[in-house]
Amino acid sequence: MQTLTIDDILVRGKKVLVRVDFNVPMTPDLKISDDKRMVEALPTIKKIIKDGGSVILMSHLGRPKGKPVTEFSLKPVADHLSKLLNQPVKFAADCIGKPAQEAVAGLKPGECLLLENLRFHAEEEKNDEKFARELASLGDVYVNDAFGSAHRAHASTEGVTRFLKPSVAGYLMKKEIEYLSKAVSNPQRPYVAILGGAKISGKIDVIQNLLPKIDVLVIGGGMAFTFFQAQGLEIGDSLVEQEKLGLAKQILDEVNVKHMRLILPVDCVIADRLDNEAQRKVVPSNKIPSGWRGLDIGPETVKIINMEVRRAKTIVWNGPMGVFEMPNFANGTLEVARLLAEATRNGATTIVGGGDSAAAVAQAGFEESISHVSTGGGASLEFLEGKTLPGLGALDTR
Ligand code: AMP
Repeated sequence: MQTLTIDDILVRGKKVLVRVDFNVPMTPDLKISDDKRMVEALPTIKKIIKDGGSVILMSHLGRPKGKPVTEFSLKPVADHLSKLLNQPVKFAADCIGKPAQEAVAGLKPGECLLLENLRFHAEEEKNDEKFARELASLGDVYVNDAFGSAHRAHASTEGVTRFLKPSVAGYLMKKEIEYLSKAVSNPQRPYVAILGGAKISGKIDVIQNLLPKIDVLVIGGGMAFTFFQAQGLEIGDSLVEQEKLGLAKQILDEVNVKHMRLILPVDCVIADRLDNEAQRKVVPSNKIPSGWRGLDIGPETVKIINMEVRRAKTIVWNGPMGVFEMPNFANGTLEVARLLAEATRNGATTIVGGGDSAAAVAQAGFEESISHVSTGGGASLEFLEGKTLPGLGALDTR
């Protein structure tokens, strides 16, 4: 990676300003229900502590819309972090101004401080220059370890780098970029991409960026039906994007010319309404009656995906195969999670691109069995689209 990382700088005696993504899910009584993003940031924090720097952490949490909101305070996150680190974590009641400056002034080498939610100030998301300057004034060097926020040009991810040098990547950022880069350049072949989710419009840039690079494209989820309609098949009441039919046809043509393979579901689980308790049955994809809609891929399709995945050396997956939030339509998505775990055990590199697919992998209990489950939904998608992430692009390079 050309970007400088935390291994390229000396932090002894320095105040290290670290942007982390501690935007963790919380229960109504403000307990952290999934601390994956915190755990993933520990290597960077521990490295700074071990090397005698002091750690100033900043993050956002939820959508407080530019003003302090108690339920979005990072205080419970500071308490949880102190348990994970097995040392006290100080907390500043604001991320700028006196509370932050005083807390930073009292910080000794090896100590750790978490600043209050950046998004309590509207200036954060506006990438306000004065606000970015104030944040930058708290540290001697800047580390960005917030991959999940790297696709946003905010004051704490982009603005701050204009006023604080060096600006480098943390270990989580480095790991994310290294894995996702394998999917975008120089993948081991055969290379299979599995894309799902509601709509083509949400994934079209990923499809177009990956098409020239992959050997097999598997399409599941709601977006498969726009392809079926483009082929003239009856799709009943399934989800369809009428205005994307032309685009679907164009992709079908492109695939033919490129001699790569496009795999669409051969069978579907259909239902008479969008409800977990709806009547349901499995039918071939070209036999969806009117009044019914496809809500999951069927067992024959899972078998075909299995064959492709077994042969593959690199597999990227983004987007569920069906309405996986409803248990009766989650099977296809959970099966893909299982197949990827199996492929990983057999030596393939497997990359799951955040968001719903990451949730499905966790739900199926395979988080540890996948080569890399991204901590960033939107960020991983934009990376796979071939875009430069502003938070990454702003860091110093070799
Ligand atoms: P996306 O954000 O585009 O990745 O879409 C994720 C959403 O797609 C999930 O909430 C799924 O419930 C939904 N989805 C997946 N398959 C279908 C389908 N066959 N019909 C309707 N929605 C679907």
